[in-house]
Amino acid sequence: MIYLDNAATTKPYPEAVDAMMDTLTELYGNPSAIYSLGSGAKKRVNLAKRTIAATIGAKPTEIFFTSGGTESDNWALRSVCEAYGNRGKHIITTGIEHHAVLHTCEYLERQGFEVTYLEVNSFGLVSAEDVKKAIRPDTILISVMFANNEIGTVLPVEEIGALARERGILFHTDAVQAYGHLPIRVEKLHIDLLSASGHKFHGPKGVGFLYVRSGVMLPPLLYGGAQERGLRPGTENVPGIAGMEAAAKLSADRMEENRRREEQLRDHLIDRLEKEIPHCILNGDRERRLPGNVNVTFPGLPGETIVLMLSHKGICASSGSACTSGEVDPSHVGRAIGLNERDANSMLRLTLSAENTLEELDTVVEELKEIVEKLRSAMKR
Ligand SMILES: *Cc1c(COP(=O)(O)O)cnc(C)c1O
Repeated sequence: MIYLDNAATTKPYPEAVDAMMDTLTELYGNPSAIYSLGSGAKKRVNLAKRTIAATIGAKPTEIFFTSGGTESDNWALRSVCEAYGNRGKHIITTGIEHHAVLHTCEYLERQGFEVTYLEVNSFGLVSAEDVKKAIRPDTILISVMFANNEIGTVLPVEEIGALARERGILFHTDAVQAYGHLPIRVEKLHIDLLSASGHKFHGPKGVGFLYVRSGVMLPPLLYGGAQERGLRPGTENVPGIAGMEAAAKLSADRMEENRRREEQLRDHLIDRLEKEIPHCILNGDRERRLPGNVNVTFPGLPGETIVLMLSHKGICASSGSACTSGEVDPSHVGRAIGLNERDANSMLRLTLSAENTLEELDTVVEELKEIVEKLRSAMKR
């Protein structure tokens, strides 16, 4: 099997699995309990908080564990609107956000908020200048993703953060695709709130975190016990948190090495696809791009069919976003970068990790050549 769907989820590092096993079998106490099995679990959670805070230059008290990227995005947007809605009711975001942000924005619109969905250019980029033009006196929040999950474009978060800070507007970034892959310093980038998810950087599923800069008001999304200072109640997911911590640590330690390797693999794959398959168009920005992202369009060929045919060859890939597969809708990101409906349905996403090899990618190129040729001659008939 060749796994090229790392933007959908990643294979957990063995160290993450070990950390989970340890907490499941040994440290199974409730972190709120006062005996040592409980306080040990609590210490484990606090240690994870310190580790993860350090990876982004934050304070441990600014990290809140959640059930993943979706919850972090929901919490950030809904709670900022709840806490700051009396100052204004306008939000700025982009048209290429993950549905966890876009569908939360739609909900907020139904609650009386106004949302500006910035148009991106054909590479999936918005500029700080675009954001500036959209700012109104009643703008309370700017939410722009760090890097796009479909086309891999890395957005100018630092410039947008600086602008937001200057104007006294809160800045949230969905960094689910970037955290663990690209260096992030929240102070330098002027980030007020940041979402991340364990399973996108070789940790477990169902766990993530939200960074909230101290001083930012954030009412809870859920009501219950006193965990996380009452702001995120519910018994802590200790195994998930321990597994995510292990993955965060390894991802930070190996970041440069992994990035160089992935970029080398990525550029090899892009080069071969562009050279050897006629009418293969790269989506996203060539330079400002996630190290592991390849996204191409074969105009006129259904992406779903290509994914299915690759799957018969033991290759895991994706067309558009994994979260929308099953729906017949063309990729909203494809449409946003200007592809027509047909071409937005023709996207193929191959996302790699440092564990992939050049040989695997060469196999994929050969299989793709055959598949594309087969489909094209079938379409002609
Ligand atoms: C995967 C993803 C999410 C959702 O994260 P989950 O942990 O799966 O809920 C949100 N935003 C982006 C950009 C993602 O890639």
